[in-house]
Amino acid sequence: MTETIKQTVAAANVKRVGIVGAGQLGRMLALAGYPLGLQFVFLDQSADAPGAQVGKILVGEFGNPEKLAQLAAQVDLLTYDVENVPVEALGDIPRHKAFLPPVTALATGQDRLLEKTLFRTLRIPTAKFRAVHGMPDLEQAIQEIGYPAVLKTRRLGYDGRGQRVIYSSAELGSACNALGGVEMILEEFIGFEREVSVIGVRNRRGDTAFYPIVENVHSDGILRYSIAPCADGKLQKPAENYARRMMRHFDYAGVLTIEFFVKQGRLIANETAPRVHNSGHWTIEGAVTSQFENHLRAILGLPLGDTSARGCAAMVNFIGSMPPMESVLEISGAHYHDYGKQPRPGRKLGHATLVCDTRRELMSRLKIFPGIALR
Ligand code: AMP
Repeated sequence: MTETIKQTVAAANVKRVGIVGAGQLGRMLALAGYPLGLQFVFLDQSADAPGAQVGKILVGEFGNPEKLAQLAAQVDLLTYDVENVPVEALGDIPRHKAFLPPVTALATGQDRLLEKTLFRTLRIPTAKFRAVHGMPDLEQAIQEIGYPAVLKTRRLGYDGRGQRVIYSSAELGSACNALGGVEMILEEFIGFEREVSVIGVRNRRGDTAFYPIVENVHSDGILRYSIAPCADGKLQKPAENYARRMMRHFDYAGVLTIEFFVKQGRLIANETAPRVHNSGHWTIEGAVTSQFENHLRAILGLPLGDTSARGCAAMVNFIGSMPPMESVLEISGAHYHDYGKQPRPGRKLGHATLVCDTRRELMSRLKIFPGIALR
């Protein structure tokens, strides 16, 4: 049997997908998977996480080896919608059940030091950085990096949490204390012109595809909105090359995201995520095949879907509160997504996507969009 036939047979047998994490990403994966005939079981510490609306939830911590084993026993294949799955807790599950994207990519994405070191190894430009274990190290590292610099926890930082910008020596001690004495990394502060991300996908046969790169606007470390495709088309090829290199390195299957700063027209990699990503939500309505469907196709060993954009799209996150649905849906080309989460300050509760034929039309309609303050 050729490799392609083997992969297709494997895919045909997969009906039940286990997802570690039942957040909005897991919910959107399941919504994309039902037309393919898939069923979903999630593992999450919360019985009313967004995934509960579309699948069965096994309640437990991501770090509980027994719960992970229970999940594995109920499904044909495993994936995840969160990055903080402790890899030790997986034990030998990935040896007897497909767990994709690969554990090595998950482990690297969890640790900013491993991630930045890999960027270097793969010749992907990144900010200068130094590992920091405590105050004496920080004093040494700041001599080499200079001010301003960004001190980050190596692990468990997301949406701007676990980081401090340091402008002067007076702030060194307070920044170090604020991060709680854990392992850290000091990075050069990049005075970027913009932030962009590339979303690539690779299936179990090694086929790859890339979405048009997206411009992302953050504030307080949280993604506020994305515009796709990014106006600067020259960045597409280098971004694809970097993502391809990374996927090849991991013998990857699934969606992979790399976030970049753009400075003087050049890409500087900041972070990678071995999963579907917030900056790819626009693909549900704005691309021929969504990142969620393509992630499932990739991990099942199926042919990848077309990643082309249908015109121009913007995705706006709703953070802390949801606007009335009517105020979004009355805008032509707009789509509303409510994750069904309890409102809390700083929490991503939903998003909307606006799809237009041209960028000009998109930018003009976006001005009247609820919850957006265009830069
Ligand atoms: P991160 O948690 O690394 O994704 O950082 C969240 C946001 O903080 C980024 O999207 C940037 O807007 C900002 N940021 C992080 N690292 C740096 C840096 N080295 N230089 C400038 N801004 C940064």
